[in-house]
Amino acid sequence: MEKLILRAAELIAQARKVVAFTGAGVSTESGIPDFRSPGGIWEKYEPVYYQDFLTSAEARKKYWLRSRATYPVIREAKPNPTHLALVELEKMGKLDCIITQNIDRLHHKAGNSPEKIIEIHGTNAYVICLRCKKSYPREEIQDLLESKEEIEPPLCRECNGPLKEATISFGQPMPEKEMAEAERRAQTCDLMLTLGSSLVVYPAAYLPQYARQAGARMIIINMTQTPFDHLADVAIHGKTGEVLPRIVEEVKKIIVASGD
Ligand code: NAD
Repeated sequence: MEKLILRAAELIAQARKVVAFTGAGVSTESGIPDFRSPGGIWEKYEPVYYQDFLTSAEARKKYWLRSRATYPVIREAKPNPTHLALVELEKMGKLDCIITQNIDRLHHKAGNSPEKIIEIHGTNAYVICLRCKKSYPREEIQDLLESKEEIEPPLCRECNGPLKEATISFGQPMPEKEMAEAERRAQTCDLMLTLGSSLVVYPAAYLPQYARQAGARMIIINMTQTPFDHLADVAIHGKTGEVLPRIVEEVKKIIVASGD
């Protein structure tokens, strides 16, 4: 592992535009379960597909039941050493942007510049009316949900349309502006740093591949194997909260030694 950490540090030290691509695995060390690991969210709740959310009152109930239970965990979560290491990379002038699949706002809470964070699966900080697009703070809707024992899917005060978290569910169109920007950044970076993502959720998982096809180097850090480990210059299987801070420390040493 030590050799891989040093190699990853060399690649980052040589790079000028690092794009970090983050998945649910970077937040497990903050106490937020991912989807697919043992104990992950799919063991407790089935996914609600967007089409079902639109057409079935039962599906909307299921969606809000999960959301009511999982939101407080996300609200209370604090950034962990992975998030803080990405703040360090930004301070060192290495970070072009973070493309995140996460909806938990932990990169913002850690202190990365908001303009460097592209949320391709939205955020659960807001709730949106699917009819008139009015948005509500998530906290306000949580109070409403918790005021009753039975789940009553919330409705828009303006137009009575169905409310949904400002996140992207399976089957829901991706946010165009964010995806276009993420694709552009992936295709113009010189190093793609993939952290805590199973790389099986599409279209998000195309982004590291676009970077690779455009000639960027690639580092993958994930607890388990991913389908793209063979494409990476360095693939490390371990916890990002343990591995990334060590890599960033080594990058600092290389930069100091080179007098840059
Ligand atoms: P995923 O659940 O498919 O994969 C997470 C990966 O992270 C797994 O391969 C797992 O082995 C690995 N992992 C878990 N803990 C780790 C750690 N400490 N260090 C390194 N690796 C670790 O998640 P995904 O690839 O992000 O894709 C699924 C969807 O999950 C995304 O669309 C995202 O929106 C959603 N999601 C987000 C959150 C969040 O915002 N925190 C939580 C759950 C799911």
